[in-house]
Amino acid sequence: MQETKDLKEKLFKNKKTGWEKLSDEELKNIFQFADEYMYYLNSSKTEKAIIKNSKDILIKNGFVDISEKEELKPGDKIFYVNRGRNLFIAVIGEKNLEEGMRIVASHSDSPRIDLKQNPVYEDTDLAMLKTHYYGGIKKYQWVNIPLSMQGIVVKPNGEKIEINIGEKDEDPIFTISDLLPHLAQEQMKKNASEVVEGEQLNVLMGSIPYKDDEVPERVKLNVMKLLYDRYGITEYDFASSEIEMVPAYKARSTGLDYSMIAGYGQDDKVCCYTGLRAILDIENPKHTAVCILTDREEVGFDGISGMQSQIFDTFVLEMLEKTGNVKPSSLNKTYSNTKALSADVDAAYNPNFAYAFEKNNTGYFGKGISLVKYTGARGKSGASEAPAEFVAEIRKIFDDENIKYQACELGRVDKGGGGTIALTLANRGMEVLDAGVPVMGMHSPYEITSKVDVYNAYKGYRAFFKI
Ligand code: MN
Ligand code: MN
Repeated sequence: MQETKDLKEKLFKNKKTGWEKLSDEELKNIFQFADEYMYYLNSSKTEKAIIKNSKDILIKNGFVDISEKEELKPGDKIFYVNRGRNLFIAVIGEKNLEEGMRIVASHSDSPRIDLKQNPVYEDTDLAMLKTHYYGGIKKYQWVNIPLSMQGIVVKPNGEKIEINIGEKDEDPIFTISDLLPHLAQEQMKKNASEVVEGEQLNVLMGSIPYKDDEVPERVKLNVMKLLYDRYGITEYDFASSEIEMVPAYKARSTGLDYSMIAGYGQDDKVCCYTGLRAILDIENPKHTAVCILTDREEVGFDGISGMQSQIFDTFVLEMLEKTGNVKPSSLNKTYSNTKALSADVDAAYNPNFAYAFEKNNTGYFGKGISLVKYTGARGKSGASEAPAEFVAEIRKIFDDENIKYQACELGRVDKGGGGTIALTLANRGMEVLDAGVPVMGMHSPYEITSKVDVYNAYKGYRAFFKI
C-alpha cells in the first residue's frame, strides 16, 4: 500500500548505494578522480614521498611556504613542511583566526616493513636484510610479494641520499620468501600471529659472490659494493637511515565494472589525497581552512612528526602572529572555536568475514563517506567521541550538498577496535568527528576502496572547508 510505503520511506534510512541514479557527468567525474588518485598513490608510497608530491602539487596551485610571508591576509594560501615528514596546508579565512579553523586531518604514514639499523647479513651464500615492521600488520601477508626499497640515508656531513629501487619496470624488486607448503606441517599448526614471526621478515637481497674468493662474506660484500657504487653508502651509514620496504606493485582498478581500487597505503593516503584536492578548490573561505597530513599515526601519534607533537601548535601560532593575533590566549581560543574532521579510513564490511562485523553499524562500499562518532575498544575506551551537536552540523552540510554518507563504527563490540588522531585534536579543545573512506583489507599490502566513496570523501571535505 502506498501510504505504508511512504511511511517507511519517511522513517527508514535509504539503503541504496551511491552508485545509483548518477548522471553520466557524475560517473565520469568519479572515474576520473579515481584515476588521478591512483596516479598520486603510485608515486606516494612512503610518508616522505607523499609529502614531497603533495608539496609539488601545492606549489603548482599557487600555495607558498609560510616562511615566505611576513603577514597573512584572507585568501592567502600557505603550507608548512615539517622535516619532510608531515605537512600543514592552509587557506586563510575572512574571519579572524581566533574564530576557529576548519580542519581536515589525515595521516601520511602507512604500515610497512622498515630496515633495521644494521640490516645487511649473509647466510648460506645469500645476502639478506633484517627488518622491523611498522604499524599493525598481519605479518604473514607481507611474504611472497614484490617489495621496493625506498627511503633516505643521511651522512654525518649532512648529505641526504634518497634510495628508491623497485618502482621502475627495469629495476629489480625484493621479496621475503615464505616456507613451501610441503615442509610447512609444523608452521601450519601455529597461531596466525606466529606463522611468520617478526625475525623471519628477512628480505632477499642478492646471491652473487664478489669476484675475489680470498675473503669470507663475499655475497654481502658484493651487494654492499653495488650499494656503494649506486649511492656511495657503507654499512656505517645505515645507522642514520630510514629505509622502508613497501609493495612494489601499482594501484589498479578492481572488479569487472572498474568500481573499486586496490592499492598499497590507502590507509590513509586516500584521505591525504581527497583532503588535498578539496583544499585546492577553496578560495576565500569564511574560516581558515587547514588540511593536515600528519605522520606516525600508525604507531600512536607520538614523535616529532606525529599529531601529539607541538609542531602543529607552532604552525598555528605562526599563523596567529602573522594575522596580528598576539595575545597569550589566542591559541587556546582558536582551538576552542575550531571544528575538525579526522580524515581516516574505516573498515568496510567484508562478506568473507561477516562474523567480525555488526551489519547495522559497519561501513559499506558504495554508501559514501563514513562518519564514525567514536572509535576505541572495550567500551569506547582510548578515543574521543564527537558531540551529537557537531555530527548534526556535518549531516546538514552533507545533506545540503547531496553528499553520500554513512554512520558507522569499526567492527563488532569487543572484537577489537582502533583509534585515530581525533583524540589529539579533541584534547586541544576542538570539535572532532571521524570522517573517511571505508577500506577492505585495511593494513594489508593491497587495500581496497570504492571509487564512489573516495569521490564523496573529496566532496565532503570540500563542503566542510566552506562553512
Ligand atoms: Mn588510518
Ligand atoms: Mn591504520
